[in-house]
Amino acid sequence: MNTYHIDAYKGDIYTCVRSRCGFCFHACPVFLSKGFETYTSRGKCMIMKAFLEGKLPASQGLADRFALCTTCGYCTSVCDVDRPEIFNAFREDLRDAGYTIPRHDEIKENVEKQHSPYGSHDESLASRFAWKIDHDSPLLYYAGCTARYRERTIAEAMMMVLPSFDLLEEAMCCGSVLYRTGYRDDAMRQARALVSRIERYSTVVTTCAGCYKTLTRDYPAMGLQIRPEVLHCTQYLVREYKGGRLTLSPVGKGTKVTYHDPCHLGRGTCEYDAPRILLEAMGYEVIEMEHTREMALCCGAGGGLKSIDDSMATRIGSMRMEEAKRTGASLLVTACPFCVRNLRDAGGGELDVVDITELIAQSARREK
Ligand code: SF4
Ligand code: SF4
Repeated sequence: MNTYHIDAYKGDIYTCVRSRCGFCFHACPVFLSKGFETYTSRGKCMIMKAFLEGKLPASQGLADRFALCTTCGYCTSVCDVDRPEIFNAFREDLRDAGYTIPRHDEIKENVEKQHSPYGSHDESLASRFAWKIDHDSPLLYYAGCTARYRERTIAEAMMMVLPSFDLLEEAMCCGSVLYRTGYRDDAMRQARALVSRIERYSTVVTTCAGCYKTLTRDYPAMGLQIRPEVLHCTQYLVREYKGGRLTLSPVGKGTKVTYHDPCHLGRGTCEYDAPRILLEAMGYEVIEMEHTREMALCCGAGGGLKSIDDSMATRIGSMRMEEAKRTGASLLVTACPFCVRNLRDAGGGELDVVDITELIAQSARREK
């Protein structure tokens, strides 16, 4: 008898198909974009049940369909079962059956050979900030691949705000993209390599919501424990601010902003308050969007979706931009370089999109 990765989730799959409540439809970004039930969590559960019962064989069509999920976790927030975890397991089953997504295979190779999903990269960021980098520092800034190689203003802003810190000299992806596209064994190898590189630090600060969730939630789920304390930059900065080591001037006074909760920081790790505390500390007036905190709409980029269907990713991002515009805010702030990237692609020309670190860099003064 065949065994599958999704066998572990049979109970959840059957419970869903029996209840068929459909709460998961409402803000599933892929459903909102495609309009078909088979892209929702319920639809996926029905497909997986048919697969388990031998009524639907593995196929390239199924692999393509399951690749269209941002792993945003909205369905989990209304349903109490970790749906993206189940979908990732099914992506693995389909891959084991020989059905893969060529673009995801390429990304996997990039991570394997060049330690970054973006492939070749330059390390000039480290040399530009050499004056601040201290290889004996107990504090590591783990920039993550997107801020380090694609959205450098975010990494630069963070490095301006930090006291002296260390930066890994060479790229070392956390493996999030592998974990979320069905390459869990490869993700595990990557995770082990990173853990051995960071274990000497006391504190690791990330600017990427995806890296933060991967290090603090997914590594333990894979059975890996990390010795250093790992903080998202907003958590670290709130601690510095409350401890009196960081002063924030009211650069935002009179400016209305709205805040997009990155899925991996919000739903993924339940951190909703730290970014809002920082925005208010800088004097900004925060106006909430219709979907916010655990009900926030996804930006559209995650789960490997942007790499295989950029137009769908930006279509989803435009829905979020429309919500943001309806608040009347003059700035959309978020706390993840990957969200920034996709929301800017989706309509940043009409409403400026910034990462919170870029605002902090304008406002921060470090106390000695
Ligand atoms: S995934 Fe959850 S919310 Fe959606 S139909 Fe199934 S049980 Fe209901
Ligand atoms: S994780 Fe997000 S994109 Fe995927 S099915 Fe659930 S709500 Fe839809």
